[in-house]
Amino acid sequence: YNHVLQSQQQQVDAVRAEFQTVVDEKNQNIQLAEYRLVQFKWLTGLLILFGIFIGILILRTKRDARALAASGKKLKALTRMDDQTNMFNRRYLQNRLDHEFEQFLRDNNNNRVLIMIDIDHFKQINDSYGHLAGDFVLNHVAQIINDRVRKSDICGRYGGEEFLILLHNLGTDNALEFAENIRQSIEQHPINYNNNPIHVTVSIGISLVNPAMKSSQDWIQQADSAMYQSKQQGRNKSTVF
Ligand code: GH3
Ligand code: MG
Ligand code: MG
Repeated sequence: YNHVLQSQQQQVDAVRAEFQTVVDEKNQNIQLAEYRLVQFKWLTGLLILFGIFIGILILRTKRDARALAASGKKLKALTRMDDQTNMFNRRYLQNRLDHEFEQFLRDNNNNRVLIMIDIDHFKQINDSYGHLAGDFVLNHVAQIINDRVRKSDICGRYGGEEFLILLHNLGTDNALEFAENIRQSIEQHPINYNNNPIHVTVSIGISLVNPAMKSSQDWIQQADSAMYQSKQQGRNKSTVF
């Protein structure tokens, strides 16, 4: 009986020991799992922080890039503009004219007209009323031109008191009509400067692009000589080259 009891006790001990091993193993596993969970939490936290940091960085970079692009655009616009009249300046006009002439060489469409406008006796206006009055007159003429051109046309200040307009899809007849409209409008609206009416007229030259021209310079040259002809014929006139 003792022997049987001993053997059963041994079996129970063996089962208990085995059970303890399993429990210990499970406990170890639980500890490991808990440790990994803590690790995972830390890692997730760090990742979220890193994500937020990267997000902020991206947002800031985007904002900086937008600001840079905006100031670049502003700078570009500024380099195109004439301070005095707020029209396109000579450099920009020259670029556009070169571009337009190249297009013409490609498509051979000669419905492109250049109009040069020069204020008559502008020096006298400066001398009689002062330089500021001269500036006022410049802005007035610029305004009249701006009011008459369409969005697709290009106009600007080419020199001191000279303006250029580049028109598309227009023959010489229509261009002459357009130029005359500007000329008459300037003639018929004396400028009120400090209660002094200043009478202003302009002389205009018109040149249609043509295949005999070698460059945009020839085109300007023809508009200029047509304008010079208007001057010679008594000013306040429009002439087609
Ligand atoms: P014409 O009828 O032959 O064109 O004579 P004009 O007096 O208009 O031409 P001229 O070339 O003899 O004189 C142009 C004047 O324009 C001389 C210059 O002092 C003046 N001028 C050029 N730029 C400006 C400017 O920005 N403001 C003012 N007020 N005057 C200017
Ligand atoms: Mg001039
Ligand atoms: Mg002049």
